[in-house]
Amino acid sequence: MEAELEKLRKKLKKQCQLNKDLQNHNQELERRLQEKEKLVQELQSHFDELATPESNSQRSSNESVPEVQQIRAAVMAPEPIPDILEVTRVKKTAGETEQIKRSIQRNDFLRRLDEEQITMMVELLVTLDRAPGDEIIVEGSEGDSMYIVSAGELKVSQAGRDLRTLTSGDVFGELAILYNCKRTASVRAVTPVKLWCIERQTYRAIMTNKSKKRREQLLGFLKTAQTLKALNDLQLSKIIDSMEEVKFQDSEVIVREGEEGNSFYIILKGEVLVTKRMNGQQKPIRKLGQGEHFGELALIREILRTATCTAVGPVTCFCIDKEVFEETIPIENLELYDDRQSVLEDESEPERIQPGTTLQLKDLIPVLYQEGRYQGEPVTLGVGGFGSVQLVTTLHHGKYFAMKKVSKKLIVSKRQQEHVLFERRIMQSLQCDFIVRLHAAFKDSSYIYMVMEFCSGGEIWSKLKEMGRFEEPVAVFCTACVVEAYAYLHKKSIIYRDLKPENLVLDHRGYVKLVDFGFAKELAKGSKTYSFCGTPEYMAPEIIQNQGHDFAADFWALGVLAYELLVGSPPFSSSEPQKIYSKILDGVLKFPPNMNEGAKSLISKLCRQRPGQRLGNTKNGIKDVRHHRWFSSINWHKLRMRQMDAPTVKLIRKGPCYINFDRFPFDKTQADPEFSGWDQDF
Ligand code: ATP
Ligand code: MG
Repeated sequence: MEAELEKLRKKLKKQCQLNKDLQNHNQELERRLQEKEKLVQELQSHFDELATPESNSQRSSNESVPEVQQIRAAVMAPEPIPDILEVTRVKKTAGETEQIKRSIQRNDFLRRLDEEQITMMVELLVTLDRAPGDEIIVEGSEGDSMYIVSAGELKVSQAGRDLRTLTSGDVFGELAILYNCKRTASVRAVTPVKLWCIERQTYRAIMTNKSKKRREQLLGFLKTAQTLKALNDLQLSKIIDSMEEVKFQDSEVIVREGEEGNSFYIILKGEVLVTKRMNGQQKPIRKLGQGEHFGELALIREILRTATCTAVGPVTCFCIDKEVFEETIPIENLELYDDRQSVLEDESEPERIQPGTTLQLKDLIPVLYQEGRYQGEPVTLGVGGFGSVQLVTTLHHGKYFAMKKVSKKLIVSKRQQEHVLFERRIMQSLQCDFIVRLHAAFKDSSYIYMVMEFCSGGEIWSKLKEMGRFEEPVAVFCTACVVEAYAYLHKKSIIYRDLKPENLVLDHRGYVKLVDFGFAKELAKGSKTYSFCGTPEYMAPEIIQNQGHDFAADFWALGVLAYELLVGSPPFSSSEPQKIYSKILDGVLKFPPNMNEGAKSLISKLCRQRPGQRLGNTKNGIKDVRHHRWFSSINWHKLRMRQMDAPTVKLIRKGPCYINFDRFPFDKTQADPEFSGWDQDF
């Protein structure tokens, strides 16, 4: 019996050891798997890096058609910024703050936010405890929060397949702090987890408030400068847009007595000691603190510094150089855009129908495909984020129109009522040859309809896809047409905010016109708007940073457009939106080696990080863009008069009226009716 027991004991011991070994082995495998996953991720991002335009251009030297990015990240519609005045800030221990900051620094996108935004985020994060099995993010749902793992383990899966494990310090769902993106994967707790969480609505409301307050504060600081006394708020606001943050370490000399002065500084943080040389010694004169400034004379005169300014402890200044200052003031004078010039019309031009006259919804009949796989179905010209555009005609005058049809229910669910009403109102008021005309607008119980002039030459986007990239004269001409549209819009205080090849169509003569005013906004000169909207690749850094944006964001997009037309893909691109934003914030432009110097110069000047320094937004306004050497072949007067030969005509195919458009199957679904009455004025 005793021997039997001993035998069993031995057996049990052996089994235990075996179990332990297996467990160790498992852990080792798990660790190796995680390492592999990390490696795969690194390789993926390395691959993305390689997929930059530079490598595209290398490819294009071997192949006749360079690869063109076929899909773009989704469009972001502006979301109303909520009025959140009171938020609870969760106190954090020094250790917790440290852990959160470390996570932020490890995240490629978050670490590019500025210091203030990061501090704010740390303050606003709240804790969340979840049990094993709890789902934190559901694939396909709309995201509203971002998370940092404080403790525990979570699994990321996509379409039922496990992708990776998240542990302490990992960040997930971070895009949701910018906009309501669709979640592309699910995240489930494996062990009990503790998370830090922040909601977009809170983050954006607080950040917007902060950005506004900061501008007011900076304005106040600038007003105390004697030299700037004569300037009005609008001009001072322009100066703020041109200024840059600079940091100095303790004891660093910021300006030195006797040296040539070039910059003007405002102290944002820290203290600066002013000293003067007297009898061979540095004598302290005074100390300057937050809000005080120095070096203002350098802005208006050639001067030698009369004192030395040294940082006492770490100092952050807001600074502007004389050169930039001269570019910023006097304020831009948008060249007078003479509407009368564009009344002269070419004989072959389609007749214009005034909004509201004769056209009625019941008279509009769909044009059908005459051949091909959709033969007999109505022609769809384009499908956008909110609806489709159909080709229609009337029995009465036999003309073609492009009719945009959008489900009212969808508009309400995406909270776009204001924008749709504005789009209609604004388009109706625009009379410019570089903007598609709106002839009529209708509504019924389920849809709103906008009947526009039909531009038969097709979309610039599909032409670009076909060609790979445009020859220089074609790109110059297309961009010039957009410059004219901008001149008209900006003069009317409208920002466009949705420039991209998809929103540019060619008329029958090859002239380019802007369509889609869904994101346009009326904005008083000198004020800013804070909504996050646009197409990721075309977004200006100040939009991503939530610093408030204005007309300058349109000029940034113009630079991106010129680049995309010439290269075939935009300068800041990736399959992951976070990476696009990171690249935009880095602002490094990589030009293909064969790109012409003029183009590089124009794009670099349009895509400057600081909005106040961007070409088009400096003192001569849009004139500076028109006078840039890249446009030397454009006779602007002739262009406005539609007397220039458009090099784009060669892109236009002859055949049935829809020949220049991609083909789309007809969407037979009928939207549900919507009766809340928001469209009363539509
Ligand atoms: P988005 O998702 O960009 O907001 P949307 O649904 O608001 O798109 P639009 O951009 O106005 O719609 O139009 C979608 C597409 O329809 C355009 O990209 C273009 O191809 C085509 N289209 C629009 N208007 C016209 C027009 N007047 N003439 C010819 N084609 C047009
Ligand atoms: Mg569009």
